[in-house]
Amino acid sequence: MAEYQCSICKLHYNDKKLADMCHAWCSTHDSCNLKIAEQSIEAEERRKKHGN
Ligand SMILES: [Zn+2]
Repeated sequence: MAEYQCSICKLHYNDKKLADMCHAWCSTHDSCNLKIAEQSIEAEERRKKHGN
């Protein structure tokens, strides 16, 4: 499965569109957009761990 990384905040996404949105946000804002970041692979992994 392909992974796409935002080169600014280094988060990974399964969807290139999300990675592009994240990159667009990160390049114009100092902070991450939570609505985008929560869809990252890292956030998904975190949710899985919390489910255990
Ligand atoms: Zn980003």
